[in-house]
Amino acid sequence: MSRFSELIAPAAPTKADLRERRWIFVPYDRFTDRVGPIAAQDANLTGIVIVESTNKGHRRAYHKKKLVLLISNMRHFALEQAERGVKVVYHFSELSHGQALVQLQRQGKIPQLVCMTPAERELRLDLQQAIGDGLKIKFVEDSTWLSSIEDFVLVYGKYAAGKSYVMDRFYRKMRQQTGILMQNGRPVGKQFSFDAENRKPWRGDPAVPEKLQFPPDEITQEVIDLVASTYGNHFGSIEGFDLPVTQEDCDRMWRHSLAHMLPYFGPYEDAMRDDAPRLFHSQVSALVNLGRLLPAALVRDVEQAASKGKIPLASAEGFIRQLLGWREFMRHIHQQTDGYRLVEAPHEEGKPRSTSRQPLIGAAPAALHASLPLPAAYWGVKSGLHCLDTVVEQVIDEGWSHHITRLMVLSNLATLCGFSARELTDWFWIAYVDAYDWVVETNVLGMGTYADGGVTATKPYVSGAAYINRMSNYCGHCRFDPKQSTGSDSCPFTALYWTFLERNRDVLGNNFRLQMPYRTLDRKPHEELVELRARAEGAVEHLLSFSRPVY
Ligand SMILES: Cc1cc2nc3c(=O)[nH]c(=O)nc-3n(C[C@H](O)[C@H](O)[C@H](O)COP(=O)(O)OP(=O)(O)OC[C@H]3O[C@@H](n4cnc5c(N)ncnc54)[C@H](O)[C@@H]3O)c2cc1C
Ligand code: SF4
Repeated sequence: MSRFSELIAPAAPTKADLRERRWIFVPYDRFTDRVGPIAAQDANLTGIVIVESTNKGHRRAYHKKKLVLLISNMRHFALEQAERGVKVVYHFSELSHGQALVQLQRQGKIPQLVCMTPAERELRLDLQQAIGDGLKIKFVEDSTWLSSIEDFVLVYGKYAAGKSYVMDRFYRKMRQQTGILMQNGRPVGKQFSFDAENRKPWRGDPAVPEKLQFPPDEITQEVIDLVASTYGNHFGSIEGFDLPVTQEDCDRMWRHSLAHMLPYFGPYEDAMRDDAPRLFHSQVSALVNLGRLLPAALVRDVEQAASKGKIPLASAEGFIRQLLGWREFMRHIHQQTDGYRLVEAPHEEGKPRSTSRQPLIGAAPAALHASLPLPAAYWGVKSGLHCLDTVVEQVIDEGWSHHITRLMVLSNLATLCGFSARELTDWFWIAYVDAYDWVVETNVLGMGTYADGGVTATKPYVSGAAYINRMSNYCGHCRFDPKQSTGSDSCPFTALYWTFLERNRDVLGNNFRLQMPYRTLDRKPHEELVELRARAEGAVEHLLSFSRPVY
């Protein structure tokens, strides 16, 4: 018997507990007793059901650290609840969550359940199917969110084909509705966004704070051993796992970020470095997406710190915009478009069509007709592009990299080259510790690649070498020259950028935000265009020339 099984055994319910307590199913991404049904009732009247499903773990080749983080938080959450007096059915299953619950109910091992509406579409559909098979479960609102679907629909109306969303409108409404960073109905500092001030490269000063370490306890060590043996062929390194897995440690990590990272977050939020990859990012996304840290509390803490002068307003606003704006906005778009299944864009060649009832086939919109396979470099084969290799190495090691590396290195390159946006999405889903369908599909198919044709972003986020060179120290350590755009020593990003615009003129040529680059492209002499095309073609060929590891 494992140490965890030994420790959780005394929390198993009696028949009377099953009859007399109110039973709650805890989804794998809602480990909280601070809001929701667990918070709403006395611990001694509560029972919870948690399913540790290998069916889910095997569904994709999830990063090993992601599995350790999730399973260890799951087990620690169960023990924390047992400690409070909650009765716990902790069930190991090879079935999906929904089917495991059906089986438990049929066997009389659990009664009717209550559950916060799961954030993941995949789990919602799994539970819906289980309800069809007889599962008795009642959904209640997921109160970890800061906004409701109605709030979103009030701003934009319901989703209809051809609709595109601009995040700023929703963010302003959320600021006004919540009163966060507002004074007498006006934004504190007289503007809603300080984004324009937050675009500095980082040159070594101020110093980046030390990262907090969370060495594995015996429960986590058991999970590490389990993941190494059961999911040993999955993506990513399991070495040196040191993420928080208890509520106390999650809170400690947040307090550390609040005190030491947030004061410098704003100005350097777009900077990239190979010697300090985390810079001043909070790294809380995985914990927020697991329900361990609640957006309402984080936003309140940051607002309070700003009001006391501990965090400059531009940093505080920048961080609050991510949580109160982007994060909520993305999940609403996912819900409204049924994970982009309702979006009318060309479908990616060679990918199966998904319908609303299919949880496991992802939508594959391809507004820019991208359909080349994702190359081996994303799976760790060195490409020689220092920016790409550096970020991929970090992802293999940690399962995390910050926003701009995701957007302006990984997604930028894939979009410029025409690599499949669906494959890129599935790669992110596997590779990042914070990835779940509602957040990864919107960020990659929408923001990162423009595969949705502009539902989520008004233009593709693409750039040549100049942007990466300005915002990072990558180019100084690269064998390619960011100042040259043609020839074998030139940085491939620049040639890829111009040929991307040329190739996609039918879709992007009239985009008002791209008029300037199109004018520059049109002024280029024919000979230069020929050389740019050759350089871009050679770069794509090079990237596709390596064989890809199989997961
Ligand atoms: C291509 C691409 C893929 C992404 N995939 C994911 C993903 O799978 N899961 C995920 O949580 N975020 C994703 N993001 C958003 C963002 O990059 C991460 O949330 C952020 O980098 C996490 O690091 P942090 O906690 O230090 O965030 P910070 O930079 O400190 O930001 C604070 C918090 O705001 C939230 N946030 C910020 N931006 C976004 C956003 N665009 N969408 C949703 N929440 C946001 C996160 O909860 C984050 O923790 C993606 C972005 C891009 C461009
Ligand atoms: S020169 Fe080009 S490939 Fe090399 S790091 Fe800079 S942007 Fe990346």
